[in-house]
Amino acid sequence: MKEKRDCKIVQDLLPIYIENLTNEETNNFIEEHLRNCSECKTVLENMKKEIPVSTTQKDNREVKYMKKYSKKLKTLKYALLIIIILYVILVGRRTFIMASLSKKAVENQMNDNYYVRLYSYQGDTLTITESYNKGEDYLTTHTRVVNGNNIQKISYYKKGEEQLFITESDGKKHILNSETMAGGHILPVTYVSDGIFANLQYALITGIDSTYCNGKECYVIKGKNYERYIDKETGLAVRNIEKSNKEITRQNDIVVDYEYKFNIVKDSDIVKPDTSDSSITE
Ligand SMILES: [Zn+2]
Repeated sequence: MKEKRDCKIVQDLLPIYIENLTNEETNNFIEEHLRNCSECKTVLENMKKEIPVSTTQKDNREVKYMKKYSKKLKTLKYALLIIIILYVILVGRRTFIMASLSKKAVENQMNDNYYVRLYSYQGDTLTITESYNKGEDYLTTHTRVVNGNNIQKISYYKKGEEQLFITESDGKKHILNSETMAGGHILPVTYVSDGIFANLQYALITGIDSTYCNGKECYVIKGKNYERYIDKETGLAVRNIEKSNKEITRQNDIVVDYEYKFNIVKDSDIVKPDTSDSSITE
């Protein structure tokens, strides 16, 4: 009875005994018991043989796994860091591009001697706008062409104090009240602003790519409903595509091509439109 109870105690202690965690007194007790008990001795030998080995293996596996995992985690951290750095560089670069384009555009918009030509296509309608601008003076004409036929021409003329607003359609000319003149002054168009938030939006969301358009090196900004091509040299619009969508009821995309020439406009380019055979509409 007593021996059996000792066995129970010894076997309970064996796991910590083989780990050398027991004190000397306990060791003496265990060792004396083991000398006289083959059953406990067998238990101890089995423990020494199997458990420690398998525990070590398990530990090794865990250590290996942890090492591998932490290595993976480290790689992931570096990859993430590189992605963040690249993203910051990209956004910074785009913001810088937008800011420098905006600076060029503002410079060009301040120049008051320029020629503009716009081709605006929508479906089978083409509107050609030509505008000569010199100081406060200008001559702007819009010619609407449908299926290859000129159907309407509108001219805006301003030289010094003299103003003229004239439309031509079906071979008839009408002089309109020059007080109601609107749209005569065509300003150079740009799609970049010096607003930091607008530029950040382009940089973060929209994206800017390099491309060619109308023979010019451009940046293109593509949004959901538009594509805007900006001349790298001038910061001004080269082409704008407004895509038709259901919200604005429109059947065709509007494509506008822009062409600018600076410092070439002479006074003689701003010619008063011919008003013969015209009726006056006040
Ligand atoms: Zn025993």
